[in-house]
Amino acid sequence: MADIIDQILAKDEFTKEDIVTLLNSDVKGRNKLYQKAAVVKAEYVGKKVYFRGLIEFSNICKKNCYYCGIRAGNNKVDRYYVTEEEVLEAVKYAYENQYASLVLQSGERSNKDFVDQVTGLLEKITEITNGEMGITLSMGEQSEETYRRWLEAGAKRYLLRIEASNRELYAKLHPNDPTHDYDYRLDSLKTLQKVGYQVGTGVMIGLPFQTVEDLAEDLLFFQKFDIDMVGMGPYIEHEDTPLFQYKDQLISKEDRFNLSLKMVAILRILMKDINIAATTAMQAIDEMGREKALKVGSNVIMPNLTPVKYREGYLLYEDKPCIDEEASECKNCLEARITMAGDTIGYGEQGNSKHYYQRQEKLKDNQ
Ligand code: SF4
Repeated sequence: MADIIDQILAKDEFTKEDIVTLLNSDVKGRNKLYQKAAVVKAEYVGKKVYFRGLIEFSNICKKNCYYCGIRAGNNKVDRYYVTEEEVLEAVKYAYENQYASLVLQSGERSNKDFVDQVTGLLEKITEITNGEMGITLSMGEQSEETYRRWLEAGAKRYLLRIEASNRELYAKLHPNDPTHDYDYRLDSLKTLQKVGYQVGTGVMIGLPFQTVEDLAEDLLFFQKFDIDMVGMGPYIEHEDTPLFQYKDQLISKEDRFNLSLKMVAILRILMKDINIAATTAMQAIDEMGREKALKVGSNVIMPNLTPVKYREGYLLYEDKPCIDEEASECKNCLEARITMAGDTIGYGEQGNSKHYYQRQEKLKDNQ
C-alpha cells in the first residue's frame, strides 16, 4: 500500500482513482499523505492561521434541508435574532482583538426586510472598523442583485456549501422542490464568482448513502469550480431531522473524522493556495480535531463570537462544542491549541485567499 501512496503523492495531478486510494489508505499511508500536505501548506500558504470571528446572527430559515437541526420544519427550535447592538458588540470585540475577519452566518431568507437589515449591518460594520474587516457572509442562495448590494456594502467573501456535489446524493439530502434545486445552487456559486466575491463551498463527510468515490468527486468538483475557500467536516446527525432515521447506516464517528482529515490533506495538495477551514464539526468528534486539521492543511479557524445566550439555538448538529464559552475564553483556548499545532495566528491580517488573487489575474489575462 505504501508504495502506491508514494507513487501517487509524487504526482502533480490526482485522478479520481488516486484520490480514492488516498482516502482508503491505511495508517502508514495516511501519515505519508499528512506529511506531504503539511509541507505543501508551509510552502504555499505558510504556517499561519487566520481567525474569522463567527456571528450566527439568526437561526430563522425558510429551508428544510434533511440534515439540518435548524431547518424550518423543526418546531422544537426557539428562533432568535441577535440584535444589531449585540452584533456590533461582537464586531468591536473582534476588531479590538485584531481578528481582522468576520463571518456573518444565518439561516436562509431573502425577503426585503432581511436583505435590507444585512445591508445596514454591513455598512455599520464597515464604518466602525474603518473598512479594515474582511467580512464573509454565509446566508444561502440570494439573487444576483442582493449579492451585489452586499458586496458594495462591505462583504468580501461568501460561503455557500454544496454539501454533496453528486446530484443524486444532493437530491437525497434535500426536499424535491424549487427552493432546494441542485442546478440553482451551482448557478449561485457561479454568480458569486462573477459578481467578484472570494467564493467558498464545502461538503459533509460520512453522510448516509455517500461513497468514497463521491468524496473523491467532491474534491475534483472544488478544483473544477476553481473555488477560493473550503469548509468541510464530518456529518454529525441531529435527532430532530429526517436524515436521522438512517443513523444505523453511518460509519463510526471516528471513521468520519479520519476521512475528513484525509479530505483536508488531499485538498491542500490539490489546491495549494486556497484557504481551508478547520471546522467546528471536526472538534465535535475529536477534542483536538481542529488542531489536527491545521497540521494537515487547514489555515483558517472560526472562533465563535455569537453571544452565548443564543448558541443553544444554532445547533446544526448534535454535540456542537464551545456553546457556553465567552469569546475571551474561546480566544485563550484557541491560542494555546494553535501554538501546540505548530502554527502562529495572523493577528491583524485578513488572510484572504491567495487563490482568489490568482483567479482574478487569470480573468484579466483572458479579457
Ligand atoms: S442547512 Fe442552511 S439552508 Fe438548510 S435548513 Fe439549515 S440553515 Fe437552512
